[in-house]
Amino acid sequence: MLNDSISYLKGVGPARADLLKTELGIFTYRQLIQHYPFRYVDKTRFHQIKDIVDDSEYVQLKGILRRLDTFGEGRKKRLVGRFRDSTGVIELVWFKGINWVQNMAVGMEYIVYGKPSIFNDRINIVHPEMDVVSPANTTNAITFDPVYSTTEKMLARKLDAKGMKRIIQALFKKIHPQRQLIPETLPPYILEEQDLIGRYTSLLGIHFPQNKAQLEAAKKRIKFEEFFFMQLRMLQTKYKNQTGVRSFIFNRIGDYFNGFYSNNLKFDLTGAQKRVLKEIRADMATGHQMNRLLQGDVGSGKTVVAFMSILIALDNGFQGALLAPTEILAQQHYVGLQEMAEGLDMNIAILTGTVKGKRRRELLADLAAGKIDLLVGTHALIEPTVIFKNLGLVVVDEQHRFGVVQRAKMWRKNDTHPPHILVMTATPIPRTLAMSAYGDLDVSVIDEMPPGRKPINTFHKYESQRLWVFGRMEEEIAKGHQVYVVYPLIEESEYEGLADVKDLMEGYASMERRFPKPQFQISVVHGRQKPADKEAEMQRFVRGETQIMMATTVIEVGVNVPNASIMVIENAERFGLAQLHQLRGRVGRGGGDAYCILMTGFKLSSDGRFRMQTMCDTTDGFKISEADLKLRGPGNIEGTQQSGILNFKLADIVQDVELLQAARNQAMLTLEEDPMLQQLKNQTLARQIKQTKQTHGFGRIS
Ligand code: ADP
Ligand code: MG
Repeated sequence: MLNDSISYLKGVGPARADLLKTELGIFTYRQLIQHYPFRYVDKTRFHQIKDIVDDSEYVQLKGILRRLDTFGEGRKKRLVGRFRDSTGVIELVWFKGINWVQNMAVGMEYIVYGKPSIFNDRINIVHPEMDVVSPANTTNAITFDPVYSTTEKMLARKLDAKGMKRIIQALFKKIHPQRQLIPETLPPYILEEQDLIGRYTSLLGIHFPQNKAQLEAAKKRIKFEEFFFMQLRMLQTKYKNQTGVRSFIFNRIGDYFNGFYSNNLKFDLTGAQKRVLKEIRADMATGHQMNRLLQGDVGSGKTVVAFMSILIALDNGFQGALLAPTEILAQQHYVGLQEMAEGLDMNIAILTGTVKGKRRRELLADLAAGKIDLLVGTHALIEPTVIFKNLGLVVVDEQHRFGVVQRAKMWRKNDTHPPHILVMTATPIPRTLAMSAYGDLDVSVIDEMPPGRKPINTFHKYESQRLWVFGRMEEEIAKGHQVYVVYPLIEESEYEGLADVKDLMEGYASMERRFPKPQFQISVVHGRQKPADKEAEMQRFVRGETQIMMATTVIEVGVNVPNASIMVIENAERFGLAQLHQLRGRVGRGGGDAYCILMTGFKLSSDGRFRMQTMCDTTDGFKISEADLKLRGPGNIEGTQQSGILNFKLADIVQDVELLQAARNQAMLTLEEDPMLQQLKNQTLARQIKQTKQTHGFGRIS
């Protein structure tokens, strides 16, 4: 019956049925019943006129209509009623539908419902709902009235909120006698465990709650169900992956790992680093492929964790690979890892696009012969001509720079099994998102900074304070430190691409006047330079030959210059929170005091102000990403669009995070006990999973 067409419903008919199809995509009873109200009118209480202020929410009043007068002519014509209760008088105003309203009787008692606003300097209610006071609507009908979304075209056909309500009432009237036909989707043990009401009751309650408690119970049940099936599906996929894809068993910890640990490691690992290493070790020992995402803020020490994971691969007789998104980053890793590997009898090589000819041929031969233990490189590493002897672990740095397809190619580097995969990202993903979008991956988080790290002092400044900014820069340069000045990149078009170079070049001109040669040297880097020029300018800064680096966001990708102590961000309001946080992470790596200065215009949107404030208030990447999520909603956070996590009708991963956690825990419990959902008590779940198609697309990260 739930699949019946809505055109059979009383009060619908062919014309309205068509409208519901084209406007809202509602064809069946099932879809109509899931067209939930978007808000409710609290008709359980009456307000007093004396309490009304101009920005009051919707109010319900009971009183007497005292007068009705028309003012104006033609399109400006309006009808004004004076309405009185025992506490005061308020004006009711109509601009449309005047003929209908005029049927109302002065002197009658009415219930008035509407939103107060200011008109002609007076508080009044425009187009209120009016009901004659009768026993029916003062006693049993007192309720939370549902309000449904409608469209212009629907309004034209009298399918307003009230019309929708009538149709849905008719629907419930029809299905109520057969409500056993509306199947329960959650087994009794879960309803009991989670303290949830039944499905039919929740559907009735979400449309026609008798009181607040009923409404809350209905919402809870429906949201839980939405979260629960998403989690159940994702966790089951994850389970199948874990048991499905075989890979090498790394169960040995040997000379490489131990040698590094006792001789080369110059600091104590943080608790978070130890925990993550343990997780990785456990993964690689199972015989199933590791597919792990490692999140850690900039500077949290992901590299050493990656390196030690690679040492485990070496201890088990395998090779490792590390992919970086740019040549410069690959170089930096190469140098850094060689330092870490000192005295370890380990051959590290680097392969990038610039390695050519004989050197490249030799390198590839060594790699295939197993003479290279760790290959660091860029995209060049993905090419099919790059053949390993036995690749055991691939680490991918700065995950979001690589496409899924590129990563997948690394899988096929072995004839037998795919290598284990560790993907690292410095873009913190809020816990809530990680749970929903990446729920089917293993996620490790380094949520602790190495000791002694000082937070970066962050200031928000305007153009008028430019001299102060120059002063701070000069002080730092005098101490032998370096400075970044970053301009936003406008990517929309070629033409605008020129515009940001213009901003940058104008900035450069005034910077040169303030910091003249030969005492000061400035690097300039932007997207319209040839790669070789860009590279050369970067290298000058990395080597300390220039004190100031002026750039569009090209430096966003983790270039490491520990000597840099100030990050000036121009037009900071044009950057998102995640970008600002990434940029700020480029300074403060040398251990001393570091500064970030956010330059904006005076006029800022409230969003812009919030972003600047958040940056000044915290340096915690997870707090910043949570703020970003609140600001932009889950739909705009990278990687969420395809994941299907936005397909909820009611649930909201930000607002309802506790319910999300509860649903996830329940799904885990259920699957722990019965991974394939074969037990009798889980039959409903198995059926439900089969019926609803898979909506998320994050089966694999690589
Ligand atoms: P990221 O996570 O951004 O890649 P890195 O791995 O580059 O961070 O680490 C940043 C700096 O912190 C490096 O110089 C590294 O040697 C240092 N570091 C890492 N772990 C620790 C630790 N436990 N104690 C002290 N310093 C550490
Ligand atoms: Mg790094």
